[in-house]
Formats: sequence, C-alpha cells, structure tokens
Amino acid sequence: MSPSAVVWDSALLAYDMGDQHPFNPVRLHLTMRLATALGVLDDVPLLSPEPAGVKDLYRAHSAEYLEAVQQAPMAGWDVGHGLGSDDNPVFTDMHDAASLVVGSTLLGARCISEGRTQRAVSIAGGHHHAMQDRASGFCVYNDCSVAISWLLEQGYDRIAYVDTDVHHGDGVQAAFLGDPRVLTISLHQHPFTLFPGTGYSGEIGVEDAEGRAVNVPLPPNTGDAGWLRAFHAVVPSLLETFRPQILVTQCGVDSHGEDPLADLSLTVDGHRTIYRELRRLADGYAEGRWLAVGGGGYQLLRVVPRSWTHLIATVLDHDVAPDTPLPAEWTDMVRGVAPSAELPPTMSDGADGGFSAWGDGFDDAVDAAIRDTRRAVFPLHGLDPDDPRD
Ligand SMILES: [Zn+2]
Repeated sequence: MSPSAVVWDSALLAYDMGDQHPFNPVRLHLTMRLATALGVLDDVPLLSPEPAGVKDLYRAHSAEYLEAVQQAPMAGWDVGHGLGSDDNPVFTDMHDAASLVVGSTLLGARCISEGRTQRAVSIAGGHHHAMQDRASGFCVYNDCSVAISWLLEQGYDRIAYVDTDVHHGDGVQAAFLGDPRVLTISLHQHPFTLFPGTGYSGEIGVEDAEGRAVNVPLPPNTGDAGWLRAFHAVVPSLLETFRPQILVTQCGVDSHGEDPLADLSLTVDGHRTIYRELRRLADGYAEGRWLAVGGGGYQLLRVVPRSWTHLIATVLDHDVAPDTPLPAEWTDMVRGVAPSAELPPTMSDGADGGFSAWGDGFDDAVDAAIRDTRRAVFPLHGLDPDDPRD
C-alpha cells in the first residue's frame, strides 16, 4: 500500500472567481509548481478527481440550492442563496468547478476508506463556509461536509475534523451540530473581529452531541507561540479521548501574519509545526488515517505556496527543512508573472515554531480563551478543564 495520496488536476484551477477576487487559483498552481521543483512530488503519482455527482452533493446541500448554482451563470445575478455577492460572484461553469473540488476531497476519502492509502491531501479542498442552502465566504459546495457524510455512510462512526483556518469552520460545524459521531474543532480569530462572526467557545453542539463542537476563538495578533499553546491545550486531549477512526483537517493558511484578510500573526514555520503535529495526532489517535485539505490563504506568492508545500511534504513524510532555499526555477517563474514580487529566500520565515505549554502560570488573552474552551467542553468528555495534564 502506498502510504499517501496526492489529489490534483490542473482542471481544479477552473474554480476562479475573477482576477480581482482574493480566492485566486494561482495559489494552487504555484504550490504544485513549488512542490514539484523541490522534489517533494518525485515518484508520487497524482490522482485525478472526477466531479462529485448530485447524489453526493445532496449529502450537504439542498436540491433548491444545487439548482440555483447550476442556473446562476445563465440566470444573471438575482438567484439568491448567497450567490452573486462580492464574496461569492457567479462565474462560468461554477457548478462543474465546485463539483470537481468536492470530487477531489471525496477521492482522498475514498482512497483512505478503501485501504489504498493511510493519508491523502487535496489542497484544492477546504471550502468550509458553504452552507446547506447558500454560498458563503468564497465557498460554493462544502467538500469537507460531503466527504465526512460519505465516510459516515461507509461505517465510520467517530470522525474528528480539525480546522486551522483563520476563519471559523462554520459550515462543517453546522452540518454535524447534532451528530455525536463527528467531533469538530476549530481554532480561529475571534468572531467579534472577523468573518463569519461565529465560533464562540460557548458553541458546543446540541442535544446528545453536546461537546462535539469545539471552538477556540483567539485574539487578533496571536502568533505561533500563542496559537500552538492553545492547540496543545485543547486538541490532543480531546482526540485521545474521542479516539477517531480518521482525522480530517482543513489547513487554511490565512492565519499568517502577512495575510491581507485577517489579523493573526503566524509564520510559515508555525504552519509547518502545525502539520507535523496533525500528523503525529493522526498516527497516535486516529489509526494513522489523515485526510488533509486546503482552505483560505490570500498572500498568494510569499505564503501559500510555501506553507502548502510543507503540508504536502508532511503528508508524504518528505519533510522539507525550513532553511531549504527556494529553487531558482520557481522564483524565476514567479518573477516572470510578478516582476516586482519580493520573494523570501527560503522555505522559512526565520521563526522557530516554539511555544510554552498551557498551565505553567503564564496568563494572557490566549490563556483566557483556552480556559473558556476547556471549561465549555472538557467536562463533557470526562476531562478536567483546570488540570493541565488533561
Ligand atoms: Zn479562511
């Protein structure tokens, strides 16, 4: 068995909301080019996805919404369902392009479910804001929700979803809010200061799924150390207790300090540390199964290609050392299209990704967020919110 699958086809670049829109597919193209130039993908076959069919899209979306998405390019701008806004402009072949994104994440899920691989990564996925009957936050169809629903149908009954995008993973949380089989954990910039305005620590799930939604809202300007401190204070204990059969992660990189749409202050080195931790947790607590998808990330040249190359490399166990120089063939290509781009010299931002553990007596706004989240959900998992060993 090949240990890991990489899902990619250049047809995924058709999910294109226009030159002036931040969700520019060039970020995917430049990532795949950088990963290739660094040799990360040597001898790794790329799996080419098929568009998801309507039957699978129904797992996460209403028939009326699917109809609206299909009709929108012909119907003009007034189709409702969140379509035709600045955030979610209607574009040619929108249904086909969004279905292919879902199909790519589904293909990764299928590879793992069928035992063909232990891990899979699709950087084109991660459209975590799409709701049952509306587009939201640049997302048309929710590939994460469709794939999780499909996995449930295959017999998985303990699925953990961890969302490290700077925005709350609201669409996925909403899809499984009352389902005790799915644990959703989202770390994000505080909803008081950022779209979509949800993801408070008090959002814990409903009915017999209380405690299955977990939210860690972080103050603006939180950097690597604070983010990783919060992650370690919340995520490993919950996964150790929940014991998922698979870990699904949304790996948006708009938490970076240079991202134009948000205000956290992580580095590429912090992102690399996150991926290595997710891999460790998948190996330790999720039977080795890890489905990783992309998400947000709007510093198109300097950040996304490096961070997601680290993601792909981590999934493949082809880890790239931080001090690795950017290959000239890649920087020359980028300068060919963006001559004034100031590109970093290496795969690092020069940070160390270090952090101090929660519970050491230190106390700041991140620690307050940690405390709120632990107190909201840890007792529902039989864990002590105030004991740092839990
Ligand atoms: Zn985002």
